[in-house]
Amino acid sequence: MEHVAGLCSPVTAGETGPESSDGPSEDEGLVDAFGDLAALPVEVEERRPTCVRCCRPVKVCLCPFLPPRALDVNTCLYVVQHPAEESRVLRTVPLLAACLPPAKCNIIVGRRFTEEKHPELAAVCQDSRTLILYPGPQSQSLEEVVRAGELAANAKHNIIIIDGTWSQAKNMFLKNSLFHLPRQVQLSRTLSSQYVIRTQPSNICLSTLECAAVALSILEENEDILEVLLRPLRALCSFQLQHGAQVHHSKEHLLKNGMYDKPMPKNKRKIKRMERLITDHSACPR
Ligand SMILES: [Zn+2]
Repeated sequence: MEHVAGLCSPVTAGETGPESSDGPSEDEGLVDAFGDLAALPVEVEERRPTCVRCCRPVKVCLCPFLPPRALDVNTCLYVVQHPAEESRVLRTVPLLAACLPPAKCNIIVGRRFTEEKHPELAAVCQDSRTLILYPGPQSQSLEEVVRAGELAANAKHNIIIIDGTWSQAKNMFLKNSLFHLPRQVQLSRTLSSQYVIRTQPSNICLSTLECAAVALSILEENEDILEVLLRPLRALCSFQLQHGAQVHHSKEHLLKNGMYDKPMPKNKRKIKRMERLITDHSACPR
């Protein structure tokens, strides 16, 4: 799949909105037009001019919620991003990138990563100071690793985060042996996802921005980082909610509160997995 180019550069819509028509305004027509506008998915904004810093449509620019200066961090973040993620409208990674110095936030798009094609990433994966954030049986709690002093103090750590849907991330992790080299860590703290616009399969499955925010605040031992990074995300969510996006509770939340209205799956494995979502907080369905 090809990347959608130019999402971060100014894009001008080829046509103006219905309000540009001349002549006496017809109230009814106008009301209708607004009614239609309200019914449109929020995604339509993407065709409008885009802010170069936060990559949001200019009208809903989130720059006021970004820190005035890039955060000063020691940790170097590597976001390996599934190509489909780059073209999604509600992406959190551009907000993350806008909060960090460019050298500390590397975004590498692709599905398969090899030493030949990605020598820099391969070197990072082979670096003993690198961690990869991916839950699983071999994964250690990042907080515990830091608390136990297992990471060299003052070392400039690298952390790799996979950006994609759960199944994309799982595939990318399993099929790239480079990602099996770094120490595998996961987040143990419970932080219900702020990012409610996209349905999360479980409350503990966080958006990439949230994962990065939590991981960085743990590694840097600085809680302020979490607050600063989550601020634009909260603003994004509240904006989307004000403009008609529905709150997407996680499946876990819906099941717990008897609000899951999809017919129960016939497949026994699926039912088991749904039950596990309710009872087992460490089950992240990747
Ligand atoms: Zn902006």
